[in-house]
Amino acid sequence: MSDPQQDLGITESKEHSPGEWYAELVQKAGLADYAPMGGFIVTRPRGYALWEGIQDHLDGWFKDTGVQNSYFPMFIPESYLEREKEIVEGFDPEVAWVTEAGNDELDERLAVRPTSESIITPFMSQWIRSHRDLPMRLNQWCSVVRWEATDTKPFFRTKEFLWQEGHTAHRDGESAWEETMLRLEQYRRLHEEVLAIPVLEGRKPEHDKFPGAETTTAVQSLMPDGKSLQAATSHYLGDGFAEAFDVTYVDEDENEHVAHTASWGLSWRALGGMVMTHSDDQGLVLPPAIAPEQVVVVPIWQEDTQEEVLDYAAELAAELDEAGLRVELDDRDGRNPGFKFNEWELNGVPLRIEIGPNEVEDEEATLVHRPDGESVVEGREGIAETVEDHLDTVYAKLYAAAEDELEENVREAESRNELLGTIGQHGGYVKTAWCGEEGCETEIKDEIAAEIVMVPLDEDEGPIDDTCAICGDDATETAYFAKSY
Ligand SMILES: [Zn+2]
Repeated sequence: MSDPQQDLGITESKEHSPGEWYAELVQKAGLADYAPMGGFIVTRPRGYALWEGIQDHLDGWFKDTGVQNSYFPMFIPESYLEREKEIVEGFDPEVAWVTEAGNDELDERLAVRPTSESIITPFMSQWIRSHRDLPMRLNQWCSVVRWEATDTKPFFRTKEFLWQEGHTAHRDGESAWEETMLRLEQYRRLHEEVLAIPVLEGRKPEHDKFPGAETTTAVQSLMPDGKSLQAATSHYLGDGFAEAFDVTYVDEDENEHVAHTASWGLSWRALGGMVMTHSDDQGLVLPPAIAPEQVVVVPIWQEDTQEEVLDYAAELAAELDEAGLRVELDDRDGRNPGFKFNEWELNGVPLRIEIGPNEVEDEEATLVHRPDGESVVEGREGIAETVEDHLDTVYAKLYAAAEDELEENVREAESRNELLGTIGQHGGYVKTAWCGEEGCETEIKDEIAAEIVMVPLDEDEGPIDDTCAICGDDATETAYFAKSY
């Protein structure tokens, strides 16, 4: 018989083979499996529970700020997609098409949505009549398909992925821009407060904006392998989409005006980023705000102490449950404590409480933090409050570690060779003065597959040097180069 304890262990090392480690982790921790078609994954209940955790937080914040959920078809007629020329050009190589149904060829082929501006904006055009209908803020939680030929990496690179896409229409550009910034801020907050990941906020360079957008903003987070992850973007679309889809309204002056629009989305990459950032060679490490189980109580007994230990543990678990904590009592008879510890560590539960005869006798509880194994004996009295404090500490440990990592990995370079050498050696972000020409980025991309992931949001910030580090021409802004997912 195989040793069940053996199956729980991650055999790959996060430090030495991060790609293999991540692949093994998502499967052993029960987050996802690979579908029979390349590029697709099956999200298992534990993985989906984490996505629901992200949804719960974001969806609440969206609704608090005027957003309504809706749902649009997954198919978009080709003629709709073609109405905004940059969308069709931008996504064309990645669009999956439906050309027949049953035994019939379709009159018009249908795109499987790569994003939904082209189907949502025409309806906004019908629903918006006057300035009183604005702002209109719609969101949908759905999946989209982008047929890119790359290696599958669950939650990072898949042809179909889950996300939310918000689409809003406004009276003027200022209001649409405020919307763009509000959603960016909510994505930052999700990363920092819920996922315990610090982010950099920035704009995409002109040549790398969302097709048809005037400005694309994004949050970037640093992964342990030194690459940057972009899990959320927020686009200021100006009046281009509104023009193309005829979104107009009658203002107080009784004249017809073109609306301004914005769109914004966060995908399950945020989930993948969280898993990759905090987890270790023992398995998942989850921030308390999103962990399906925040606390596991493990009673440790011998035959003669079984009853008192189990009673004490059950009562303690009930008290935590009553206080609104997500708690699991692991009183399984057929597993020894060592096995249970390993299993809950693999599952990433932030806090373990061990209850043995000593704890019962002294009216105490032993609390163990998942990220670093720190063990603290606490009094039984007021345990719910104590546990909440410890969960805050676990969050703080995770955030601080990620923050240190980010701070250590933003460097500067003054020349082309320094830029190449610094990214080559350390990964992370390298800030450099840039002339604004795509060609200079291409030169770096061709050499080491690093790109400009963002430029600072504040356009007044200016370049950190007078001349572009790559071509020597006058610099116009500061570019953040990094390898990215
Ligand atoms: Zn240049």
